[in-house]
Amino acid sequence: MAAFLPPEQLLDCVHCGLCHSACPTYVELGTEADSPRGRIHLMAALQDDTCTLDDTIVGHLDLCLGCRGCETACPSGVRYGALIEAVRPWIETRYRRPATVRIRRWATLAVLPYRGRLAALLAPLRLLERLGLLAGLRDAVRRLFPSYRYVLGLLPSSLARAVVPERVPAYGTSRQTARLLVGCVMPELFGTTVENTVEVLRKIGVTVLVPRRQGCCGALSLHAGDRETARRLARANIEAFETSDPLAPIVVNAAGCGACLREYGELLADDPRYAARARRLAARVRDVTEIVDAGPLPPFPPASGSCRVAYHDPCHLAHAQGIRDAPRNLVAAIPGYTLVPMEDEDLCCGSAGHYNVMQPAMARRLVARKVAAIRASGADVVATANAGCALQLEAGLRAEGLEIPVRHVVDLLADAYRR
Ligand code: SF4
Ligand code: SF4
Repeated sequence: MAAFLPPEQLLDCVHCGLCHSACPTYVELGTEADSPRGRIHLMAALQDDTCTLDDTIVGHLDLCLGCRGCETACPSGVRYGALIEAVRPWIETRYRRPATVRIRRWATLAVLPYRGRLAALLAPLRLLERLGLLAGLRDAVRRLFPSYRYVLGLLPSSLARAVVPERVPAYGTSRQTARLLVGCVMPELFGTTVENTVEVLRKIGVTVLVPRRQGCCGALSLHAGDRETARRLARANIEAFETSDPLAPIVVNAAGCGACLREYGELLADDPRYAARARRLAARVRDVTEIVDAGPLPPFPPASGSCRVAYHDPCHLAHAQGIRDAPRNLVAAIPGYTLVPMEDEDLCCGSAGHYNVMQPAMARRLVARKVAAIRASGADVVATANAGCALQLEAGLRAEGLEIPVRHVVDLLADAYRR
C-alpha cells in the first residue's frame, strides 16, 4: 500500500502514554485504541500494511476529535494533528462508509462551507423567526421529542445574520488596520458575534476591512479528509486577503479557522504558485482575543453587579494555537466579572467542527462531562472564544435544564461596553 506519511513522523511517538489523560475519547472510554498512542499504532499498522482497513479501525480513527489535546501533553513533540490529517484523506480513497454516513457527510460538506447555500437552507427558519413562530415551534418539538433536546439546542437561539460593510472605521484615531475573516458559518449562524467582534476592534482603535471574495477557511473539509477542497478554499482566501503590507493582520474569531489559516503554508507546501504566499498569509493570522488583549482597552462603564465566570478553552485556540491567557485576561478585565476555576477547562466539549453532527453519541458524552464541571464551578456565566463551543455547551446545558448562558469573549466585552 502507498505510504501516507514519512515513516519518521510516526516514529516520533515513544509510546509513553503521557498524552492519555489529555485525550477526551480515552478519558471517556478507557480503551487503548481510542487513545493517541493507540491511534498512532493503528496508523503505523495501516502504513506498514500489517492491518486491514475495516470498520473497527476506521471507527477508532473517526472517533478522534482532532482536538490536539495530545499534542499539548506530549513531551516528545509528536505532531498528532498532522498525522490524523494525513490519514483521513488516505482512508477516504480506500474505504466505503455505510450509505447513511456518506449522505450525512455529503450533506454537511456540501452546505456548511458555502455561505450562500447555508443562507438558502436557513431562509425558511428565518421567516418563521420573523413571524415570531420559531421559538414556539422549537419548544413544541422539544416537548414532543425530549430525546431531541440536545440536537435542537445545536441551532442558535437567534438566527440574525451579520451585516458588516466592507470597511468599518475605528472609533476615534485609527492606530491599525486589520482584515477580518468572517468565513462561512460564522456570519450566518453567529451574526451577533461577528458584529460584536467588529465593534470591539473599533473600540480599541482598529479599522476593520472585510474582504468580499473570502470564504470558508477549509477546516471543515480538511478534518473530513477532503484535502483537495481545503486546498482550493485556501487558494481563494490567499487571493482575497493578499496585500502589499506583509504585516497587515488577519483577525479571526473562530478558533478552528484561525488554526487552519496558520497552517496554510503546510497545506499548500507543494504548490509552486501558492506555497510562499500561503506562508506569508499564515504569519499574519491573529485571534481576536490576542489583538484586543494587546489593547489598550478603553475604560468600561461601572459594573451593576458581580458575576462568576468559568472559561472553557477551545481546543483549536489552546492546543493548536497556544492561546490561553488572552481570553482569560479580557474576561478578568470586565468590571464585576470574576473568573472561577473549572475542572478540565481545556478538555474538548465535543463540538470539534462538525463532530457533533457526525459522532453525536460521543459528543453528548463529552458535553455532559463539561456540564457537570460547569455546575461544580458555581459559575453564573460560561465564557469561551469559539462560537461552535458556545453552541455545544449551551445545547448540553439546556438538555440538562440549566439556563447558564455561554458567551464568546467578544460578546461579553461588547455587552460590557454597552451597559
Ligand atoms: S486529537 Fe484529541 S481525540 Fe484525537 S487522539 Fe488527540 S487528544 Fe485524543
Ligand atoms: S504521542 Fe507523545 S505522549 Fe503520547 S504516547 Fe506518543 S510520545 Fe507519549
